[in-house]
Amino acid sequence: MGLLKNVLPALATAVLALTAPLTASAQGLIRDAEIEQILRDYSDPLFEAAGLKPSDVNIYIVQDDTLNAFVAAGQNLFLHTGLIMEARTPEELKGVIAHETGHIAGGHNVTREAAMGAAGNTSLITMGLGALALFAGAPDAALALFGSAQQFGLMTMFKFTRVEESAADQYGLSFLEKTGQSADGLASFMENFRYQELMSESRRDPYFRSHPISSDRIAALSRRAAGITAKSTPQSEETATQLAMMKAKLVGFIGPANRVASRYPTTDQSLPAKYARAIAAYRAVDIKASLTLVDELIAIEPENPYFHELKGQILFESGRAADSIPDHRRSVELAPQHALLKVNLARSLIGTKEDSDLAEAEGLLQDAIYLEHDNSFAWNQLAVVYARQGRIGDADLATAEEAYYRGDMARAFVFANRARDKLTLETPNGQRADDIMALSDPRNRPRGGRSGLSDLSIQTQQ
Ligand SMILES: [Zn+2]
Repeated sequence: MGLLKNVLPALATAVLALTAPLTASAQGLIRDAEIEQILRDYSDPLFEAAGLKPSDVNIYIVQDDTLNAFVAAGQNLFLHTGLIMEARTPEELKGVIAHETGHIAGGHNVTREAAMGAAGNTSLITMGLGALALFAGAPDAALALFGSAQQFGLMTMFKFTRVEESAADQYGLSFLEKTGQSADGLASFMENFRYQELMSESRRDPYFRSHPISSDRIAALSRRAAGITAKSTPQSEETATQLAMMKAKLVGFIGPANRVASRYPTTDQSLPAKYARAIAAYRAVDIKASLTLVDELIAIEPENPYFHELKGQILFESGRAADSIPDHRRSVELAPQHALLKVNLARSLIGTKEDSDLAEAEGLLQDAIYLEHDNSFAWNQLAVVYARQGRIGDADLATAEEAYYRGDMARAFVFANRARDKLTLETPNGQRADDIMALSDPRNRPRGGRSGLSDLSIQTQQ
C-alpha cells in the first residue's frame, strides 16, 4: 500500500505536465491539531449520518486561497484554506462538507482514482502549521516537505456531472436533516457564488469548475433546505467561535503580513482578533509581543490546548527549548488525542540536550507513531533520539521509515539495508528493516517509478 501510494505521484505529475493548467496558489497540504479537530467536530456527525465510519474518512487541508473542496480516491475529503476563509457561517462550511460527503456516499469519486497522486503524498506533511513560518525563508525546504503545487493542481481537473451534483445536494441535505442541522448554509453558500455561473470556465473558482452551479440547482436546494431548517436546532455559539478561530489562525500563519492588521484592528478585543495578532507578532519575530499576547489568551482560556501549543512553539522557535516544555506538556495533557502535540513536546525535550529527557521523548514519539504511523517527522525525531542513545541500528531503521513515508524509496532502501546489517533479523525491528528493504528495493520498483500503473490514466468527465 505504501509503495503504491508513493508511486502514484510520479505518474500524476507526468500526466499533468501535458494537460493541466495549475493553480498557482496551491502550496501544499498543512497540518494543524486545532483546525483538524474543528473540522472533525463539524464533519464526523455528517459522516455518521451518511453511514460512514468517521475514522475511515481522511480530512486534508490544502493551503490554497482559491475556493475548493473535493473528495478523491475513496474516503478522502480535501478542503482548501480558501473555503474556510470564505465560509461566512459554520452552516455554510458544514453545508459544503455535507455536499462532499454526498459525493462519497453516492460513490461519485470512482473515476477520480488518478487524484490519488495528491492523496498519496500526504505523508510528506507531518509538521504543524507553524512550520510554515519556520520555512518562510526557505521555499525549497518547504516544498520538499509540503509537496508540490502540481499534485494539487491535478485536483481541479475533475468535474462532476449535473446529475451527480443534484444527487450530492440531496444526500447532503439528508445528512443535515438527520443531524438536526440547518440546511440554509448550503443554499446560501451556492447563492453567494451564483455569479460564478455567468463566468467563463477558466475564471471560476475551482469548486465551481468541478461542481457546476446552476439556477435550477440552487432553486431545488433552497426549496428543500427551507423545510429542513425549520425543524433544525440552531448552531451553538461555540461552533461559530470555532470558525472564527480557524480563520484567525489561517490569516495569522499564512495570510499576507498586512492582513492581520486590516482584518483585526487593535480595537477588536475578541478572542480571534487577539489570536491572530499573537500569531502575526510571532511570524514577524516580535517574540516579546507575541508572548505577551499569548499569555493574555492563556489567562482567558487556561484550558485551551492550542494556546499552550502556540506559546510552546514561540518559545521553541526562539531557541528556548527547555522553556517551551511546560506549555507543550500542558497541550498534550489537555488534548492527548493529537499526535502533532506529542511530537512538539518530544522535539522540545530533544532540544534540551539533556540525556534524561530522551527517554520521555522516545515514549511520546512512540505514542505519536501509534496514532499516525505515517508521520515522517515523528520518525525523523525518533531517529535523532536513537542516535543520541547510541542505538545506531534502530536509528537507521527510523530513518528508513521516515524516508519510506516521505516517498523517498532510494533513501529508504539504503537505510533499511544499513539497519538490517546491525539488527537481529529475528527481532521485530530486524524484520521491519527487511520488509522496508523489500518494499523499497529498486528491483521491485516499477521501471521509471511508474510502469505497471501507466494504464491508470486520468478518466475525467469533461
Ligand atoms: Zn459537488
